[in-house]
Amino acid sequence: MIGVFGGTFDPVHHGHLRPALELLESLQLQEVRMIPCAVPPHRDSPIASEQTRLAMLQLAVVDEPRLVVDEREIRRGGSSYMVDTLRSLRDEKGDVPLCLLLGTDAFLGLPNWHEWRELLTLAHIVVAHRPGWQMEKSEMGELSGLLDNREVSSVSALSAKPAGHILLQQVTPLAISATGIRRMINEGKSARFLMPDRVWDYIRTNKLYQ
Ligand code: ATP
Repeated sequence: MIGVFGGTFDPVHHGHLRPALELLESLQLQEVRMIPCAVPPHRDSPIASEQTRLAMLQLAVVDEPRLVVDEREIRRGGSSYMVDTLRSLRDEKGDVPLCLLLGTDAFLGLPNWHEWRELLTLAHIVVAHRPGWQMEKSEMGELSGLLDNREVSSVSALSAKPAGHILLQQVTPLAISATGIRRMINEGKSARFLMPDRVWDYIRTNKLYQ
């Protein structure tokens, strides 16, 4: 199985990296593709450029070969729709199970994603608990029915099929966000230890987010 972890990564931080690694191990994934978006369709434009966000991500995973930086959304350019990304991975990888890894906030926003119902025809969805976000079925609208039909409780159910299931997974809760990091830097505070040192050094050297 292959994991797919998309994001703005503006900048990448331990709240991305640690869940990605824990899911890699708990789901026994061959690798996790870390995919920085070009233009995010559902939010404000990133502050750092595509090449800068990519460079920070590459620095972050330099000694962890199981986290693989995948540049396809930046190469494709324009609005980065996950459905297009999964289609291109599916074309490349044949029937291997794909697991789209999402934090709780991203999962709760899924019904706003382009062609979101197609996503489960292309991949499983694995939701990593993110502190501060609750999955209340009564407030989840269409997602509540989706969970009723698609949720499984074991990793083995995922490996048995290329796509179509949803699994909720606990990961070490880390209340870190890129928004919080950008705000700290903007206020002249240190964001050290919230991300790999190499990324923090890069941000300081290039005077990002000031
Ligand atoms: P921003 O604050 O700029 O919105 P972010 O920190 O939420 O950024 P993104 O790049 O937007 O990071 O997130 C990419 C993916 O990582 C999403 O699926 C999101 O849910 C997940 N994620 C981000 N931070 C965490 C965290 N601390 N714990 C679990 N998942 C996270």
